[in-house]
Amino acid sequence: MATILELYRIDYWKYRAEGNANIVLQYIGPHSRFRNTVLRLRKANRLDDSGTGLEGTNFGDDTMPMKNLTKESHFATEVIGLLLGQEFVEQLTAVALPPGFLSSLALAMEPSRPESRRQKGIDLAQSVGFLALDHTRFIKSSSGQSDFAVEIKPKWGFLTKSAFLRKDQDIKRRKCRFCMYQHQKIKTGQEYTLSKYCPIDLFSGIELLVQDAVNSLVDTPQNNLRLFVDGLQQPVSRESMTQCLSAPSKSTTTQLQEQQQKLKPQRMEGDDPVDYVKVDSGPVSLTDVLTKILIESPLLRRLGRLQQALDSLDVETVHQLYTYLVERDSVHLPEPTVEEFLETAEAFMGRTDMNAMMTEDQDTFESHNAAGLGFGPEDDLEELPKPLQLHFIREFLLSATLKDCSILITIQKDTSTAAVATPPNATSSSRLEVDAGSPEFHEACHQIKVKEEMFVYKITCIDLDPKKMTSVPMYLKKDRTIVNHYLATVGDREAACGAN
Ligand SMILES: [Zn+2]
Repeated sequence: MATILELYRIDYWKYRAEGNANIVLQYIGPHSRFRNTVLRLRKANRLDDSGTGLEGTNFGDDTMPMKNLTKESHFATEVIGLLLGQEFVEQLTAVALPPGFLSSLALAMEPSRPESRRQKGIDLAQSVGFLALDHTRFIKSSSGQSDFAVEIKPKWGFLTKSAFLRKDQDIKRRKCRFCMYQHQKIKTGQEYTLSKYCPIDLFSGIELLVQDAVNSLVDTPQNNLRLFVDGLQQPVSRESMTQCLSAPSKSTTTQLQEQQQKLKPQRMEGDDPVDYVKVDSGPVSLTDVLTKILIESPLLRRLGRLQQALDSLDVETVHQLYTYLVERDSVHLPEPTVEEFLETAEAFMGRTDMNAMMTEDQDTFESHNAAGLGFGPEDDLEELPKPLQLHFIREFLLSATLKDCSILITIQKDTSTAAVATPPNATSSSRLEVDAGSPEFHEACHQIKVKEEMFVYKITCIDLDPKKMTSVPMYLKKDRTIVNHYLATVGDREAACGAN
């Protein structure tokens, strides 16, 4: 593990963004070799919720600390890389975190954090953080061209086809998890309006539906869409998505961003969208480019099909397997190691034709997937061998990781003379090399033509954390709460997701 002394200064780091599990800081220090890097730190629940400040406050972790603290980076690159393809998986480099540095850093970042995220803080118990490439920018930027990045949290891209589903859970075959969850979020005050977005459309591979889904994300971004221009988060609106590619030059854009940043340093969830670049509308919008990339790249299709194939049994049946194992052994099940997750992924790939999975129509894919299980609802699942029961719980956990990840798409106008589109399997790559003991990152870039204009893009999957075996009861509880609330408030009168 790297100990990189140049990193341990508070003023070298700036708040970038955060989700529920992690917080991301951007390097702004003087060392050019870290210019394109971010630091990812785990968050934890606060033990002290008095709200009186951080000094003297302890943070507690609601999960067991990982024995092997570099497990997370190996899990992403080895296990998820095997399933999704290494080229789509974010590279992480573990770095040691001196305790004094971490607590000072947590204190310094607090004022920049949105109120809605402060129920958790930086986990002061972690001794390891992860350096990653800043995927909101390219390693090598063309002079004068801005880098645009869109982070999409696509969530569950399928309706379950589990043959094990009980009749009273039948709604899950018609309404997707995301759309049902929206109603629960309104009830608990997490959101005030329903999202227009439905993941089934985004994952459909049908251009009109994908475009609709992207527009819906722009209209109601919640925490599912973020926009960055030259590494700075910007408000999301139809105007900003339409106009940003028409910005005249990087220097102008930067000036406008700086003015905007002074007025409004960080977009908070629920803020009104603000036009930040007032320039003439151009013919190509960022939405057009995104739609084309999402259709052309194999990543979204692969992600959606893997989510579904690894969750063939649905959480109800997975929880049943979990209960058999826990009751038989009267102990908590140990968390899978990276090696065990890897074995699970390899066994899954052994029974799945991955090439066919990518090309089959939906019905064929689903029937192959069900047949590949080797057992059905007529079988007594308690009689399945213990290793097989464990295997299917672990498959479900892999699916949970893929349901919770984000996709970062970085785009730049291509002003090179060799304006010939390169398909996603033909890549050019850039490399950021740094001193020995420091990370080395590289990125795979593609060209794409949208309405006669050429663009360069890269597409990366981030936030690929391993999920915990002990979370299975929580997953079941949450699922039932969402479904019951949906049935109680909406019922089964709406059009099925993906039916339009
Ligand atoms: Zn839906």
